[in-house]
Amino acid sequence: MDLYSRHINKLIEELSGLPGIGTKSAQRLAFHIINMPKERVERLANTMIEAKENVRYCKECFTLTDSEVCPICASAGRDHKTIMVVENTRDLAAYEKTGKYTGVYHVLHGAISPMLGIGPNDIKLKELIQRLQQEIKEVIIATNSSLEGETTAMYISKLIKPTGIRVTRIASGVPVGGDLEYIDEVTLLRALEGRTEL
Ligand code: ZN
Repeated sequence: MDLYSRHINKLIEELSGLPGIGTKSAQRLAFHIINMPKERVERLANTMIEAKENVRYCKECFTLTDSEVCPICASAGRDHKTIMVVENTRDLAAYEKTGKYTGVYHVLHGAISPMLGIGPNDIKLKELIQRLQQEIKEVIIATNSSLEGETTAMYISKLIKPTGIRVTRIASGVPVGGDLEYIDEVTLLRALEGRTEL
């Protein structure tokens, strides 16, 4: 039985497909949107379309950015010989917030997960290896301490080791399975400073 209009049902269905939005939240959001003034709904819809059309990968580090090269990669003030490898742009933002890391990044957009069928070719790993042809001093692996993050860290370190480039892993202390985004800056800095050779 359709309790709501077909359009509301469709909206609820679309919203509940978003991460972290269950059916209850999707219903709440759908009714909220229906009650919003038309201009605000248009602005929201347009903002989503514009973001989708204009945001792209930085051609150096593959973070999400509005320009060809992100502001971090474009900055002469950064140490371009130190690359921190993170799983996603949110993790990059978490480290940037500490204001203490002066190197550049490489965003993998995921982690290796045999269980989910995500292999090395499904993340930006080739692109990282390509970057190592430039003069690089150190690669800091800052993937999450989940099983996938650890698997990815081991895989990367095995690939890089033969090149003679220093490979380090951020210290444990970042909770297992914890998204870097939710960890406070002090913990992140401690994890970075306590990094160990792989
Ligand atoms: Zn970049």
